Amino acid sequence: MNGSEGGGPERVAPGAGAPGPRPGEPESFQEMWRGLAPLGLDRGSGGYRRYAWSGADAECREWFRAQAESRGLVHEVDRNGNQWAWHGDPRAGDAVVTGSHLDSVPDGGAFDGPLGVVSSFAALDELRRRGAEFARPFAVVNFGDEEGARFGLACVGSRLAAGQLTVEDAHRLRDGNGVPLPRAMEAAGYDPDAIGPDPERLARIGAFVELHVEQGRALDLSGDPVGVASAIWPHGRWRFDFRGEANHAGTTRLADRRDPMLPYAETVLAARREAELAGGLATFGKIAVEPNGVNAIPSLVRGWLDSRAADQGTLDAVVSGVERAAREHAERAGVDLDVVRESFTPVVDFQHALRDEIRRVLEKRGRGGADTGGRAVPVLGTGAGHDAGILSASVPTAMLFVRNPTGISHSPAEHAAEDDCVAGVRALADVLEGLACS
Ligand SMILES: [Zn+2]
Repeated sequence: MNGSEGGGPERVAPGAGAPGPRPGEPESFQEMWRGLAPLGLDRGSGGYRRYAWSGADAECREWFRAQAESRGLVHEVDRNGNQWAWHGDPRAGDAVVTGSHLDSVPDGGAFDGPLGVVSSFAALDELRRRGAEFARPFAVVNFGDEEGARFGLACVGSRLAAGQLTVEDAHRLRDGNGVPLPRAMEAAGYDPDAIGPDPERLARIGAFVELHVEQGRALDLSGDPVGVASAIWPHGRWRFDFRGEANHAGTTRLADRRDPMLPYAETVLAARREAELAGGLATFGKIAVEPNGVNAIPSLVRGWLDSRAADQGTLDAVVSGVERAAREHAERAGVDLDVVRESFTPVVDFQHALRDEIRRVLEKRGRGGADTGGRAVPVLGTGAGHDAGILSASVPTAMLFVRNPTGISHSPAEHAAEDDCVAGVRALADVLEGLACS
């Protein structure tokens, strides 16, 4: 069935001459990868610009639909614009679902998101080659607007479905050009009045597994091609406003200045120190200065702290340490300080039963088809957010990570070796066979 049972009509037609496979002839992993490669690629930066509801996004969605149809899967778009490709009866319940997202950050890499979607279709092909018989319904999903590159909020498609983003708040989202989310959806041919919680759809999912390129170097350091996620770290953003006094850089004596740049600079160093001490992460990656003149002492320095840690206690220790240092240095410089928590996401602990089941399957069958020799599959925490983290509140959820040799992500340098991608597909097929097949 095309279109949506949930009311989100779909505009993109499978146009004549559209790229993609013919029905009944599924593409290989490499062919799928080559088909996606040019979509949304910026030739200047070498990175991807696949923003929600853009032309590049429509091309990626058309690619997904073609992949679904070539495998004889039932293609659906739900009320929030997420795409589903079903094998078996979507309404039967207790479905096993796998997938990720196809959108990107500005000038993002090729792997974050697409590796999970391509691997999901490839894993289904692998199961069919093995002659596996499905005992449960199965679906591949492409969640919409995961990166939040256009509207500033990540995981909009899964948040809406899970009821973690209200329709009112979603309707208030605007992109950098002031275009509201509803107008962007409408322009792409979707119905913004249809969006909202989708508990019935989520209730039909018995397990969701997301394969993702690792966004760190844990697997590279341990020498493993594939790992299993334990948890998504608690993380948040805090805004530090240092207010001093604007004045002339050439005529104001050093002793007379109330320069907010000084305590800000000390705070950046303190963040690094506190993170090292506690074993967490702390980053000032964005700053706004007023009046922002070369020859003016600033009146305001506003810095944003992003902090993450494996557990809440460590995160609290880092952030309170940074705030304490900021207050000391602000006082010494005669500068006022306000600290505001702008967002916070508590720890997401993936379901232990599903995680243990996945480890058992992988260790029994051997990762990537190779004998593990009884070696344990690594279990890793991650500091990055994912749709799997959003869904984990409503659905038993797990993640597989594929080694990224440099750990670089959200950049054209993001990479996974072909052998490791193949190992990821086999591991995902093993997991899906263990979960969905009798
Ligand atoms: Zn991702």
